[in-house]
Amino acid sequence: MATQSTTTVYVKIDGANRLETIDIPPNCTVDEIKSVFYSAAEIPDDSGCILKLTDPTGVIVPIGHGLDGNTKDEPYLLKVIGDNLMNFGLMQSALDEVTASAQQASPADVQDLKTGIISLKKKLEEMEAGIAKKAAAPPAAVVRTPSSFSAPVAVEPASKPVRKPITLNSHYTTKPKYILTEETKEYIRSPSFDNWAWDENELIGLFEFIFEDLGLIEEFKIDVVTLKKFLIAVKDSYNNNPFHNFKHCFCVSQMMFGIINTTKVVEKLKPIDKLILLLSTIGHDLDHPGFSNTYQINAATDLAIIYNDISPLENHHAAVLFTILSNPETNLLVNVPDPVYRDARKNIIRCILATDMAKHGEIMAAFKKASENFNFDDAEHKSLLLQIIVKCSDISNEVRPTEVAEPWVESLLNEFFNQSDIEKAQGLPTAPFMDRDKVTKAGAQVGFIGYVMIPLYELASKVLPNMDEAIIKPIRDSLTYYKEMLEKTK
Ligand SMILES: [Zn+2]
Repeated sequence: MATQSTTTVYVKIDGANRLETIDIPPNCTVDEIKSVFYSAAEIPDDSGCILKLTDPTGVIVPIGHGLDGNTKDEPYLLKVIGDNLMNFGLMQSALDEVTASAQQASPADVQDLKTGIISLKKKLEEMEAGIAKKAAAPPAAVVRTPSSFSAPVAVEPASKPVRKPITLNSHYTTKPKYILTEETKEYIRSPSFDNWAWDENELIGLFEFIFEDLGLIEEFKIDVVTLKKFLIAVKDSYNNNPFHNFKHCFCVSQMMFGIINTTKVVEKLKPIDKLILLLSTIGHDLDHPGFSNTYQINAATDLAIIYNDISPLENHHAAVLFTILSNPETNLLVNVPDPVYRDARKNIIRCILATDMAKHGEIMAAFKKASENFNFDDAEHKSLLLQIIVKCSDISNEVRPTEVAEPWVESLLNEFFNQSDIEKAQGLPTAPFMDRDKVTKAGAQVGFIGYVMIPLYELASKVLPNMDEAIIKPIRDSLTYYKEMLEKTK
């Protein structure tokens, strides 16, 4: 079972003679927990600093729901590593660009440059003021409500059906400057990648690497500044749900990257196939409200009305992705020829719609048939393969090591429990697998891994080689782990 009560931990702040008491409620997200730790360290959580938490024996422990309660006599030790280098580094790069532009500026440009410098100075001042203010502020209370998209029409006025991309004021957005070692690059290509070690800004840098490594920037003449703006718009269009958030988006994309590299199918795919896979995984849960299709339909939300109860969420995710791509500022496909764009759009929509588990049986049956005489040159076979890879990636957490995967199970259960609580409060039908009084973590995992995940991955392995050791074995190990956990709770 996921922890149902608040865990209290005592933390000594390194370098300060202070002992902080932190309560971790069961329903908060890992980001919210981290935010409280940043507050305890009296630094803002967007400072770019890294928090290192160790137990009394000096072992590093991850900040999240896995933390055990402790006593004042044996507190954890919290160290702050780094400073505001990341934010100030970006500002410095921007100033460098302004200076470089000034060398060749025409008189007409000078006023623009002056305005740019004044605006950057102002941002730096605001950043400093913000850091001071945030450091002094108490941690925000954890409040979770359904997003406006999932609110019943009868209760709240209808909101805009499709979120408009944010306006980006990033004339001086810097080019990718992350430098990754060959070892790190190889790690990002592996299915055992640990997402918890990276914050959201770093994940944007890793996304840039994936675009580059797949050869997409060169092949589709993607402007790197537009790519960065696109990724920021994507990040901002994911909601802060316990599970369906930007980190899940990254995990799904990274697992797709891990699967196509491990199976070496990356060598058989065309550039357009890789583009379809990456944009599908990036967009597949955009603006997810944290409530399932069943809730949307039962509560007759705006999304259910707009999409006539047909995969309301998946239709919405695809629509938000193409809304972002329709904005010239974030359209990274501007240099893609029309016929290629149309083909990509058709298949991205198919891949995103394929993530609706209500379509699972249908897609499994179609791919099983195709796998009997699979042909990479057959457009329908290829399209089904891309859908299967996206589906595998979407439910792939158990491919990762247990310490990476298990917090995701707890996040998903928290999102389910939240939905079930709201459904009960609104008098709507509830599903037993979302009910905090009926579900256990081990029971849920044994069923899901055994009946959904393993059959899907085994079917995929009929076409994708080299799946057994690095991809399917960890899933089987995870099944054993949860079966043993289930036995112990009986
Ligand atoms: Zn997903």
